[in-house]
Amino acid sequence: MKKSVLAICTALVISLVFSTMAIEANATKATKATKATKATHYIGLHDRLLDFKDVRVIDNDTKVPLSDIAKVLYIPVEKEKGVTYIRKRGIEISYDESAKQTSKDGVKLDWSPIIDVNGTLFISVKYIARQIGFKIDYIQKIQTLRIYRDDYEHMSRADFETHVKKLLNKKETIKSPVKPPVTTSGKSKTNVYLTFDDGPNKFTAINNATLKKYNVQGSFFFLGKHMKDNEKIVKTVAGDGHYIGTHSMTHDKDKVYKSTKSFIDEMNEGTELITKMTGNDAKLLRVPYGSKPHVTPAMQKQLNKNDYKIWDWDVDSNDWKYTDKETDKIVNNVRTGVEKADKSGDRDIIILLHDRNQTTKALPEIIEWLQKEGYTIKTYEPKHHIIQNFLHDTTL
Ligand SMILES: [Zn+2]
Repeated sequence: MKKSVLAICTALVISLVFSTMAIEANATKATKATKATKATHYIGLHDRLLDFKDVRVIDNDTKVPLSDIAKVLYIPVEKEKGVTYIRKRGIEISYDESAKQTSKDGVKLDWSPIIDVNGTLFISVKYIARQIGFKIDYIQKIQTLRIYRDDYEHMSRADFETHVKKLLNKKETIKSPVKPPVTTSGKSKTNVYLTFDDGPNKFTAINNATLKKYNVQGSFFFLGKHMKDNEKIVKTVAGDGHYIGTHSMTHDKDKVYKSTKSFIDEMNEGTELITKMTGNDAKLLRVPYGSKPHVTPAMQKQLNKNDYKIWDWDVDSNDWKYTDKETDKIVNNVRTGVEKADKSGDRDIIILLHDRNQTTKALPEIIEWLQKEGYTIKTYEPKHHIIQNFLHDTTL
């Protein structure tokens, strides 16, 4: 049982926007008695705030698109001949489109937890949560309906409320899906973050010098095992104003992800080294090999507890794959990746690079191209944290 709950939690396949859309449910089209309230409501799952974009209160009941909640709770949904079936934990809920009728295990319900709003099926969150064994709690102050299970460790109600309040206050720092106005030059202003993993080493010093030459700043994620022998480089990079975060002590998958404790120990140790050498806070981490699927919900909790944030990336240069004679491939990967992300409306594009020989050779061309295209190259700013992790965890 616990395993499946963990699976649910790791499966928060949600996009990263808290766009608090005004609710314009065309209620009359849905059912005669349906009434939609104009409000902003949220759904919590265990300790997380889901970023469902379309939470509606219809007939005094919080409803969300069936497809959204099905994704998050891993509920299979199938449609056959005008009837939608939801099957989970031995129960079957079905919705007959033409009759607008919901049934459970073949027995018609005298009300409908599922309604059709202009062709999108909305389901009562309370109903579906209860059916599959979740508890529910509506927290008025934050207009949040939280669903959770007691067999999964979770925050107290008060802690959750505080946590959500903090998140909602910060929501403007979350990536906006809306394209900002295009500038007079015809280019939209997109920020690009150059990030360098696996240093410090002699190539870190070269990358640092290149950044300096072009008067731009990057972010470095250092390995603790290399820091002790390269303290001078660490200090230079910090002194030049680049952000330094840890990338673990060992980079060894088997060691870092062995347990929640080994994971957080590696992060703490790495961070402490940075602070000791540079005097800077280093709350942003890049976990080795990317957060997914390695970082477990328990590890996420530890990251929260220690006030850490994590960054994965939007664009992978795949620089490590190439020799120093193939820098054109690295530049090309960055170019196509950035163009694609920019087109998709991403206003903060994080690029993954490494402190390696081939990267030092590709870097000048990468920077020149970005500058020519009008991108703004920035370093990580803790005060304006951008959420970018493959776990889609909006608290990280
Ligand atoms: Zn790495």
